[in-house]
Order: sequence, then C-alpha cells, then structure tokens
Amino acid sequence: MNNLKPDIRCLKQEELQDLLVAAGEKGFRAQQIFNWVQAKAVSNWNEMTNIGKSCQGFMAENYQLMIGNLLKRQISRDGTNKFLWELADKNRVESVLLRHDGDITRNRNTVCLSTQIGCPMGCVFCATGKLGLVRNMTAGEILGQVLDITRCMREEEPDFKVDNLVYMGMGEPLLNLPAVLKSIRILNHENGQRIGMRRITLSTCGLVPQIRELAEENLDIVLAVSLHAADNNLRNEIMPVNRQYPLEELLGACQYYQEKTGRRITFEYVLVKGFNDSQEQADKLARLISRVAANVNVIPLNKVEGEGFKTPGRINARRFLEHLRHLGINAVLREEKGSDIDAACGQLAARES
Ligand code: SAH
Ligand code: SF4
Repeated sequence: MNNLKPDIRCLKQEELQDLLVAAGEKGFRAQQIFNWVQAKAVSNWNEMTNIGKSCQGFMAENYQLMIGNLLKRQISRDGTNKFLWELADKNRVESVLLRHDGDITRNRNTVCLSTQIGCPMGCVFCATGKLGLVRNMTAGEILGQVLDITRCMREEEPDFKVDNLVYMGMGEPLLNLPAVLKSIRILNHENGQRIGMRRITLSTCGLVPQIRELAEENLDIVLAVSLHAADNNLRNEIMPVNRQYPLEELLGACQYYQEKTGRRITFEYVLVKGFNDSQEQADKLARLISRVAANVNVIPLNKVEGEGFKTPGRINARRFLEHLRHLGINAVLREEKGSDIDAACGQLAARES
C-alpha cells in the first residue's frame, strides 16, 4: 500500500496546493510544506513545526517523504564528495559534490546529478554505460540528491547551499526528459533551493529529437553536448548513438537550440591518447563547430576499469587545447576532480566496494 502514496518531493508547489485544497486542507499550507521539503530539506513530517498536528497527520497518511538512504560517502583528496544512495526499491545511484574553495563569489558548491539507474547508450569509455539501463529515476529522486546532500552537509556546515547543478552523473538526461525538466523547475523555484537557471548545465550524448524538444522549453540552462570526436568514423567507434544521429544532424540540432534559446553551446571533448588528440582532429573539431557559438571543454579521459583506452599526458592535452585556441575556439581544459574515489566524469557505477 505504502508505495501508492505520492512522493511529496515529486510535486510542484502548485500541484501540492491543488491536492491540498481538493482534500479540504488549507491552500497556504502548500507553501509551508513545499518550503520544508524543498528548501529546508527535512526528512520527517514532524519537523514541519508550523503546519499543525492535524495537517502533519494528514500528510503522513497520504504522502510519502522518500529520502535517499546514504550507504557510503567518500571524500577525495581534492575535497570532492561522492555519495552512494540506496533508493526505495533498493536500486543504487551515485551523486557527486564538487567544492570550489577560495572562490570569492562564494558560489562554490556544484552537485553532479544522476538521472537514470545505469544508462542504455553504451559509450565505450564510460563506467555507467557498462551497466545498461535499469530504469529512469523519478523527478523526486533526481532532485532528492540535492536535498539529501544539503541535509547531510548542513550537519557539518549549517549554512551549506548548493549553487550549481550539472546533469552529468549516471544516465542520459534526455532519455528521461519529463522528470528531468520537472526536477529543474522545482530546484529553481524561489520557495525551494532557488538554483538559478543559468547555474544549471544539462549534458547529453547527442539525442537529436530531444535536443529540439528541449529547445522548445526555452530554458536559460546551459546545454552541454558530448562530442568526443569530430568525424563520424571515429565517433561511431566510441559512441553508438552516432550511428543513429550522425554529426551533421547533431550540429543541426545544436544550431536550432542556439537559435531558439540564444545560449552558447558547450561541447565536451574527452581526449583519448592516440585516438582523437591529434592536431588534425583539432582542426576538424574547429571546422565542425564553426557555425555555432560554443565553448569547448577538453577533458582528459578518466580511467575506467577494464578499458583499453589511454589518457593523454598533460603536455599533449595542453597542446591540443592551445591548437584549438589558436583556431579561435573558446576552449578550456577541465581539471580532473575526485578521480581517486572514482567520482570523476564517466566513473560512476554505484558499486559499494
Ligand atoms: N549521458 C550524458 C551525461 C552523463 S556523462 C552524456 O553522455 O553527456 C557526463 C560526461 O562524462 C559526458 O561528457 C561523458 O562523455 C563523460 N565521460 C564518460 N566517460 C568518461 C571518461 N571515462 N572520462 C572522461 N569523461 C567521461
Ligand atoms: Fe550514458 Fe553518458 Fe555514459 Fe554515454 S557517457 S554511456 S550517454 S552516461
């Protein structure tokens, strides 16, 4: 029976208000409850001290407050935290908290969110891809990662706040678009976490119809596209999605997204030694993206168990980067975070040991 109660974390404030009013409760309770759930990240109905005992009872009777069960937290040498959660159905998922200390803007906490248990896209260099897809996560489970990390961190740092989000954890967010969109809107809500749209990045392996669909939403978020190779032959080898949506189509969708939203596109380019790190590939990349206003993140490949690919040395990565810049591309080398605890890009597999 319990499973049939709606998860309160999945509800927008307006939805909650409609449900409460329909049940004869006072509508303004929705704002209070939403704030307890989404801003204060409470884990229990009886922490909601201003809603009255009878409303607490009504909520407990009719809704669930599903929180992630923290199985393991690891802290990297560089301060990155990795959280392993067990969800209500015993599936496991990981999220990462990146800390940017010494940043005078104080916007220093970035959470990397998972959107699926596993992933069906099968990119050969990615640990999540090796799991296959188990299921999509619900909106409440997706945004719950922010809430559970917030509650956990506030025990140590009472003022802790998540400032930035990257939808770059386990899974392909555009295969779970309705839940992902809902999580974005709830996390952005002024009575909740208030995370600015411009501080949210969504990364996709390049699903063309869904990029166009996302464009129609006209959100102020950053779209990041995992390119990793600038010609179809190379990309086919490492990303099966490219056989379905080859580069010309993908770039067309990126252009469309840009026209609709006016936002620059971020292209991610994982550098693999001897595969896509030559000057010739940098030239191709520059040509490929020339029609789009873009930033390029160059990411030296992170190690994934049982994978033959090698990461290029720092000097080679720098050389590739400098060549791109020389061609007029706005490119940065993304520093590796949390690789000692397998928390870096592509290393999430939700294993316990
Ligand atoms: N499914 C989405 C988002 C999650 S993956 C996507 O593919 O974009 C987040 C990023 O990590 C992607 O750019 C992905 O290509 C990259 N990544 C995967 N495996 C990696 C690895 N071993 N080293 C570095 N980056 C990796
Ligand atoms: Fe899935 Fe992204 Fe990993 Fe590819 S890189 S398998 S799309 S999570």
